[in-house]
Amino acid sequence: MNVLTPNPYPGLFIVFEGLDGSGESTQADLLSKALKAEFGGSRVWLTKEPSESSVGGAIRDSLQGIYRLSPTALQFMFIADRFIHLTKEKSGIIPRLGRGDLVVNDRYHFSTMSFGSIPADLDDEEEQLVRLHSYGELLVLLNQRIGLVWPDLTFILQVPPKVCVQRIAESRGHVELFEEEMKLTAVWRAYEYLHRCYRDAEVYLLDGERPIEVIAEEVLATVKAHPKFRAVSNLLP
Ligand code: ADP
Repeated sequence: MNVLTPNPYPGLFIVFEGLDGSGESTQADLLSKALKAEFGGSRVWLTKEPSESSVGGAIRDSLQGIYRLSPTALQFMFIADRFIHLTKEKSGIIPRLGRGDLVVNDRYHFSTMSFGSIPADLDDEEEQLVRLHSYGELLVLLNQRIGLVWPDLTFILQVPPKVCVQRIAESRGHVELFEEEMKLTAVWRAYEYLHRCYRDAEVYLLDGERPIEVIAEEVLATVKAHPKFRAVSNLLP
């Protein structure tokens, strides 16, 4: 069930996923620092979704409760923001991958699928699957028409929702729309489902409760073992 186009570009595309508070920003930051040390700052781009586009800004406002959007409207905004992020002239993900650069993205397609799958009744797993499949179908269509890019590597950090909520409360002191434990539990069901579907497509589930440095070492070793890593290294000037 691979609905995206495998990355056809010479650059390496790495994505971090997980619940809010699972540590994906921390790991994305550490990996990009390690890669910058090896490749230089200009070839490594640490980025995130929602992106810095105006659509990304509108999504963040909505998540912070400044105004409310319907779940469907929010999904379409995530998809629009992703296309801007991918295709922006010169500085988007695809132009950079085309130049053979390394892109580290904090959240991508799985986030849209998982967070967007939350059913009105949080325990309604059947409704959640229907939602997951309907967004999957939409992505197949978009893929056929436009070509979303499947990351070379996806890391999903596995951390229990209760721990995530504690970390968020300690680090940020505020809780966004998605950051309640019940919702995170439903979101995690979707992540597990997606991992089962895509585990053969370079999607890794990592125990995110270990010390930060231990996780970072495993991530870097996995990135370095990827066949494309050597090809990207050979592009060094
Ligand atoms: P996310 O990007 O997934 O929302 P962050 O990377 O911002 O999460 O991390 C949220 C908080 O959890 C931060 O205070 C961070 O230092 C802490 N944290 C991240 N990874 C770990 C870990 N492996 N163990 C303990 N705390 C962690």
